[in-house]
Amino acid sequence: MSKDKQFVTEITPQGEDFSRWYIDVIKKAELMDYSPVRGCIVFRPEGYEIWENIQRDLDRRFKETGHRNAYFPLFIPESFFQKEKEHVEGFNPELPWVTEAAGEKLEERLAIRPTSETMFGHMYAKWIQSYRDLPVLINQWANVVRWEKRTLPFLRTSEFLWQEGHTAHETEEEARQETMQMLEIYRDFVEEFLAIPVVMGQKTPSEKFAGAVDTYSIEAMMKDGRAVQAGTSHFMGTNFAVAFDIKYLDRSNNLQFAHTTSWGVSTRLIGAMIMVHGDDRGLALPPKVAPTQVIMIPIGPPKTREQVVGRVDELYRELKQAGIRVRVDDRADVSPGWKFNEYEMRGVPLRLELGPRDMENGQVVLVSRITGEKRIVAQDRLAEEVTSMLEEIQHDMFEKAKAFREENFKSLDTLDEMKAFLEDKRGFVEAGWCGSEACERQVKEETGATSRNIPFKPTAEKSSCLVCGDKAKHTVVFARAY
Ligand code: AMP
Repeated sequence: MSKDKQFVTEITPQGEDFSRWYIDVIKKAELMDYSPVRGCIVFRPEGYEIWENIQRDLDRRFKETGHRNAYFPLFIPESFFQKEKEHVEGFNPELPWVTEAAGEKLEERLAIRPTSETMFGHMYAKWIQSYRDLPVLINQWANVVRWEKRTLPFLRTSEFLWQEGHTAHETEEEARQETMQMLEIYRDFVEEFLAIPVVMGQKTPSEKFAGAVDTYSIEAMMKDGRAVQAGTSHFMGTNFAVAFDIKYLDRSNNLQFAHTTSWGVSTRLIGAMIMVHGDDRGLALPPKVAPTQVIMIPIGPPKTREQVVGRVDELYRELKQAGIRVRVDDRADVSPGWKFNEYEMRGVPLRLELGPRDMENGQVVLVSRITGEKRIVAQDRLAEEVTSMLEEIQHDMFEKAKAFREENFKSLDTLDEMKAFLEDKRGFVEAGWCGSEACERQVKEETGATSRNIPFKPTAEKSSCLVCGDKAKHTVVFARAY
């Protein structure tokens, strides 16, 4: 047996080593594998299908709000990056360059895109002439590369998959509305679809996107109390319009710079979902995103097997017809008990068992992955029962994650209190901040926690800075983050 295989025969308990647990689970459930290139992962079908489900639902939301998809090139000329000063400073350390192709040195180096504001900016300058051309609302689904120093599968990889929306507007007000609208779409999606509660707010200046006027984020708490930035939406003001000359003739025939936005979520969401819901038995997938929502397992002795499997197949077709993502495992050489463990480890939200006694009684047994609740339901109401139990599981998962976050969320007044809290356990700390970068830095140096965001709805407004004690300008959420 290879070393790799041995590594994942058992899942390390979360309480023993959370990082190890995470790697064990994603490998054992076959979501990903490491590639030979540092920091880059292979999305195996089980993992990629989760991404496809995320894409489908988000794409629908983008289109409902008037956005259209397009595709822009992977390579970006070096000169484009030089046009926006903060942008180039922010991204330069992470850029991979193509300097040579077909055996010849290129006249201008090409960056492999880390994000596409510059390419969109260049094209928008060509496409936008008058207010009649606005707004432009484009999204792209793509891969991007950021040569990260520290990597972790899904959460932080050198190449990752994402969507990036880029929009241009007549007025600041309209662009700000778009920025907020997309943040709200992310919040709703992450909470409703992935069952992850988030803190919505504004990034502090030191944490904002390179080149943005304002950055907003949604932040989620993992089961080890650390934070993951689950999505960002940026208001660029006219920064990129000035850099790329995106000008339009306004309604009074004056030349104006457009206001732009960008917003993105990535395959990081997969990692966040695993770390929020998984447990010592393995993955736990919210029904809405699970590639398999129901696993059907025929049980009972060999003599009734054929009959039971026959009925399972009929019920399978009914569920499939009702739009439920269902699979049957009727392998005869594997015991039901082994299968139960296997699909729990893979995070399938609902298990359906059917045995000879159930056949006689016209019923099946449904078992929830999350609560372990067993429900005996009539076969002739199966699709409705399954649908409603999946809805309950989705709801339970969100409530459970929310209760966990509330337990590990503390509103505090001083850095000493914060240190004591984070020493004991991990979690989010809400505290006052005077607005100075020095105080923000000190929090990081002394606790390892960074400012996550300035929440729109703090649990309590703070009056003084947790570090210097001066008047608080904002109430900030701090946490150690992935
Ligand atoms: P940004 O363009 O920096 O605002 O990032 C957009 C989205 O991509 C955010 O949701 C980030 O959390 C996510 N993201 C940033 N860097 C990475 C990475 N190395 N791997 C995976 N996701 C990332």
